[in-house]
Amino acid sequence: MKDFIYLDNAATTRVRPEVLEVMLPYFCEDYGNPAAIYAPGGSAAKAVGLARRQVAELIGALREEIYFTAGGSESDNWAIRGVYEKLSEKGNHIITTKVEHHAVLNTCKYLEKNGAKVTYLSVDEYGMISLEELERAITPETILISVMAANNEVGTIMPLERIGEIAKAHNVLFHTDAVQAYGHIPLDVERMHIDLLSASGHKLGGPKGIGFLYARKGLKLPPLIYGGGQERGRRGGTLNVPGIVGMGQAAVMAMAELKVQGRQVAALRDYFIQCIQKEIPEAVVNGTLTDRLPGNVNITIPRVEGESVLILLDQRGICASSGSACSMSQDGPSHVLLAMGRSEEQARGTLRFSLSAENTEEEIAKAVTVLAEVVSHLHEILLKK
Ligand SMILES: *Cc1c(COP(=O)(O)O)cnc(C)c1O
Repeated sequence: MKDFIYLDNAATTRVRPEVLEVMLPYFCEDYGNPAAIYAPGGSAAKAVGLARRQVAELIGALREEIYFTAGGSESDNWAIRGVYEKLSEKGNHIITTKVEHHAVLNTCKYLEKNGAKVTYLSVDEYGMISLEELERAITPETILISVMAANNEVGTIMPLERIGEIAKAHNVLFHTDAVQAYGHIPLDVERMHIDLLSASGHKLGGPKGIGFLYARKGLKLPPLIYGGGQERGRRGGTLNVPGIVGMGQAAVMAMAELKVQGRQVAALRDYFIQCIQKEIPEAVVNGTLTDRLPGNVNITIPRVEGESVLILLDQRGICASSGSACSMSQDGPSHVLLAMGRSEEQARGTLRFSLSAENTEEEIAKAVTVLAEVVSHLHEILLKK
């Protein structure tokens, strides 16, 4: 079967077989438009309704608070641009962080060109924001706080509950990009006082091109996509029924397995880090060892180019990444690592391995052995120069 070791689950995941199975009937059998009157449309509409409840349940939301989108990027765009458009009378100040995904950062940059004032909170060496700095940043003009639930590069989990309390106390809306967290760590929109939450199907064993924006009841954002009356008039476009059904199934499975798999994947992660510390002692682990996504391993190896390591790893059948799915050559060294105080050289020598419950200890051991060989090979070349 597969002849590679897949360690890039933060970039995307394999669709789970159970997910694919529930999607299949909605391509060639119940392919009706869920908005239609006839029976195949009706069964599609019913399936969408069920999936809406399934994805909502995982964050303690109501079915009617879920709006399906084409993924995490669209949800982030919609949340931030929607709040800015809706509340521009009230204020023009947005608070976010320096370590957000580009779907958030570039949306904020776009809004800055259109009159928004954006504060980008700094992070400490572990990728953690300071709640004091957050509170100090709030002004009477502040309309939105957007802080990711967990970082996609270094896995740092942000203190959502505390952020939500601060946002609520100051009567400011709170959006979180939960794409890396949804289905991986517990999330609760009530307890965490979250007003808007972005999630994506393909980061938890669901299909690509489907996601949702949760918007607290009563918070009516203007549409990002104008069109027909789908999603209660808030998001035009014929619903991606197979994708929605698949994401619902992925959410059900994640909910049932969250605790056990969380622990299992975290144990794999800790084993990975142990192996690295043994075989490549000069490697430095980035991020925190406590508030960390179960599947994230992010390391800096001195005197190597991450890009070269990745190419050699690929030749040996190991899929990893340099920190984000976006190529370094396009974006330069990781903005996350730079914000954490690393040098450009350190950022360029950084690798991300992201694990899933499908990985095994044997795969991890093999990957670290190969990694150690690749690194010593590169170091030898360097010595000869
Ligand atoms: C992957 C990712 C996104 C983008 O989601 P898509 O569904 O691929 O558009 C946004 N934010 C974070 C943190 C991500 O990891």
